[in-house]
Amino acid sequence: MTEKAFECRMCGHCCQGEGGIVMTAHDRARLADHLGIGEDELVRRYSAERGGKLHLITGEDGYCVFFRDGCSVHPGRPAICRAWPYFRGNLIDEISWEMIQEYCPGVNPAAGHAEFVRQGKQYLRDEELLRYDPDVSPNALISDD
Ligand code: SF4
Ligand code: SF4
Repeated sequence: MTEKAFECRMCGHCCQGEGGIVMTAHDRARLADHLGIGEDELVRRYSAERGGKLHLITGEDGYCVFFRDGCSVHPGRPAICRAWPYFRGNLIDEISWEMIQEYCPGVNPAAGHAEFVRQGKQYLRDEELLRYDPDVSPNALISDD
């Protein structure tokens, strides 16, 4: 049987830290809709601009403002959250894939890197997370090639 390359263990590590969660226009619309508020309010209350891109802010605990023992906006979360751990670096570089295993217990070492890449690209394709535009997409996302 093929090993599952990734299964989230809900540890919350990837929701900790400032500045990692970029929101595209599509992300803003989806998240505002999920929260039942306007995009202006979403941006004003929950984001900060860095390097020309909007990021979700963190709470006093250092976690994403929407983290409450898990993602409290799961159906509306941004593309970058949906794509983890299938980020560009982890797909193209086996060493990166090995390194993230300490940080993300959901990554299954037994599956091997090639299988991680295969399952990751399939997942990104299925979830429509591959349409990469360097002007608006988070750098961690890849294109479909
Ligand atoms: S670090 Fe990995 S296992 Fe932990 S919450 Fe994030 S995706 Fe899930
Ligand atoms: S939006 Fe959800 S998944 Fe993304 S960092 Fe915040 S709490 Fe985590």
